Amino acid sequence: MLPSTQPSHLYRGRFAPSPTGPLHAGSILAALASYLDAKANQGLWFVRMEDLDPPRESRAAAASILHTLEALGFYWDDTVVYQSQRQDAYREALAELEDRQMIYSCQCSRKTLTDYGSVYTGTCRSLNVATQVSVALRCRISPRTITFTDRVQGNFFQHLEQDAGDFIVRRKEGLFAYQLAVVVDDAWQGITQIVRGIDLLDSTPRQIYLQELLGFVTPGYAHIPVLINALGQKLGKQQYAQAVDTMRPGQVLFNALQRLQQQPEPALEELAPEEILAWGISHWDIEKISGIKQIPEIEEF
Ligand code: GLU
Repeated sequence: MLPSTQPSHLYRGRFAPSPTGPLHAGSILAALASYLDAKANQGLWFVRMEDLDPPRESRAAAASILHTLEALGFYWDDTVVYQSQRQDAYREALAELEDRQMIYSCQCSRKTLTDYGSVYTGTCRSLNVATQVSVALRCRISPRTITFTDRVQGNFFQHLEQDAGDFIVRRKEGLFAYQLAVVVDDAWQGITQIVRGIDLLDSTPRQIYLQELLGFVTPGYAHIPVLINALGQKLGKQQYAQAVDTMRPGQVLFNALQRLQQQPEPALEELAPEEILAWGISHWDIEKISGIKQIPEIEEF
């Protein structure tokens, strides 16, 4: 499980959807921004299916996501990586963390955890429960502040102890956690720039911490604004966000370019998706979303 040895000057980006439902106007923003940023920098762009949680995901959703990306004219530079097929790599990373005594078993019940609130206070840290049994595994954090400069949101910092706490790397049911899998795969795929929704900004310091523990290079980050509905909620499956209409790819791409503040010319909407993407690549200016955290969803422009 060696991180890729691609030359560091080459931009390698990715779009990493969880196949819990079809792509909607919100997830299209992450797909488009990551694609345009990669291609405007002569980079490669990959698609990775984050299918780590079988009860919440379906093959049909994964197929629908790929179909939508194709209908919108996106082209990915290598075969799609499925996290469900990367279990050995996650196991290896866990073994490494265990060798370094950076993980421990946590047998706290759901109820206990709810009582603690969102930051785990380390109750099971010194209990030495065997790691084989079916309990969750947590990564031990150190009392550090992680800082980084996001290309869209600027300087960001987090006190790991107060804001994150020891975090889950393998769940009780034996499923690997997002934080671990994303770090292992970004390194393995040699990703140099991560462009994704701002809802993941809070996770980034934990990921940087894990990268350091595992000896991986930290990529650059750009957290783009999320689309919110009239109630101010992030557009997602819970809000029954509608699947984008693959019969009208021009409109879908045009709206997404508008939301990313790229000021597309109205005539673009009539063009083939590949032409709209080509326009997007040659005009891409990430500065235009600088500091923006939310974009209200407006039905028509
Ligand atoms: N799979 C995550 C999601 O769909 C995105 C992960 C990432 O981009 O790091 O929200």
